[in-house]
Amino acid sequence: MSSQPTITRFAPSPTGMLHLGNVRTALLNWLLARQAGGRFLLRFEDTDAERSQQQFIDAICEDLQWLGLNWDGDILLQSSHAEAHRQALAQLATAGKAYRCFCSEHQLQMDRKLASSRGLPPRYSGRCRTLDTETATQRAEGGEPFVWRLAIHANAGEIIVPDRLRGDICFAYKDMDDPVVVRSDGSFTFLLPNAIDDTVDGITLVLRGDDHLTNSVWQVWLLQQLGHSVPHYLHHGLLLDAEGHKLSKRSGAFAVRDLRAQGLFPDAVIQAMARLGHPNMPEEATNLAQLPAHFEAERLSTSAVRWSDDMMWRWHTKQLHTMPASELAPLIQPHLPKTEVLHLEAVAELIAPNLSRAEDAAAFARLLDVKTTLAADDQAIIDEAGKEFFSQALSLWQQADIKDWRSWIKAVQQQTGHKGKALYMPLRLLLSGTSHGPDMGAIIAFLGHQGVTERFESSLAHPHSR
Ligand code: GLU
Repeated sequence: MSSQPTITRFAPSPTGMLHLGNVRTALLNWLLARQAGGRFLLRFEDTDAERSQQQFIDAICEDLQWLGLNWDGDILLQSSHAEAHRQALAQLATAGKAYRCFCSEHQLQMDRKLASSRGLPPRYSGRCRTLDTETATQRAEGGEPFVWRLAIHANAGEIIVPDRLRGDICFAYKDMDDPVVVRSDGSFTFLLPNAIDDTVDGITLVLRGDDHLTNSVWQVWLLQQLGHSVPHYLHHGLLLDAEGHKLSKRSGAFAVRDLRAQGLFPDAVIQAMARLGHPNMPEEATNLAQLPAHFEAERLSTSAVRWSDDMMWRWHTKQLHTMPASELAPLIQPHLPKTEVLHLEAVAELIAPNLSRAEDAAAFARLLDVKTTLAADDQAIIDEAGKEFFSQALSLWQQADIKDWRSWIKAVQQQTGHKGKALYMPLRLLLSGTSHGPDMGAIIAFLGHQGVTERFESSLAHPHSR
């Protein structure tokens, strides 16, 4: 098996938008395939005709592409393997490994109650397992509703799920239920089509959440009965929200679409996700292409992990700080007064370290437009400094050399008597519009002699200044 190329897959049901739990599974599958030089396939499990929708197929593909999780080959559809699913069921039925069960929901409920009153697990009683085929066929043809179950439960024997993370996981037949594979309306449940598709698609490693562990046991059994080879498995711990709840596609709370709308960088999702339950991912691997080389599947956490929005936004900020000014400029543009491209890039360069998100740039509008009004508290600081302070600072400025801004400030200090915060804060607010941010030298260099002068003049003309 080890000589086969690794083929993994992401197999969402197109019944909702891509959410962060899906992203984790998709990313881990992508990482394993890319690391092994194998293939990463995308299969839509679209057999739930009522809930599956083309719009979700399109949206999931778009979101995966946005994240950079590109798949190999064509998109696969479970519905195109319907014939293989029917054949597999027929083969199991002929071998006595699948049987029709006519028990009504009411009967099953009574059985479960009885079992629990005896302190037994609420498994199927096995009532229909021993029906002979002829009787079962007659009842079915007579119009009695039925489901198909797998005949797994037995007194002896065990099933082994080969798991890359947890080693061989052993389950005794006697602890297993006989799962339903075909519903009374004739539609397949998840179990059989999912396992058959993995065989048809040549999947060598099934990587998914540990909520699928019991399914894997049934599926290993099913594949063995059909004489198919069993893939390797890897069951990762689930992704929970910050409160410890399971994420669900239908809740939509963690839809990738919503994160995109918030302006989040795809790499921020990827980087935060790649480190979740996998803390040995080095800090310097900062883009998707670098991750496979550092990925150690065997060190993934087997327990559930909690998602942290903060972590994701920290990566976003980090990227904002390190991206070239030419890329940052268009992102901050909508939040700033109109200006020419080169000037915008210079602002980007100047304020990048002070941004957590692109919209924070709005606080620096005054760097581009002297008429930008200040927040009331900030204006109060300027008013407090007074007209006299600014007019002295301006006349000193008119004699000063821009490269020697330190001696200018020193001269302002000496002449006005303002020191420390009372000296710097009004000047900083007047010039940049914010009380934090780039250092004074950088602000002055950016504004240039004229820019600084204009800000003083406009302040002196301000009716509120004393
Ligand atoms: N369609 C299944 C799901 O979305 C696939 C599970 C699997 O990866 O096998 O849960």
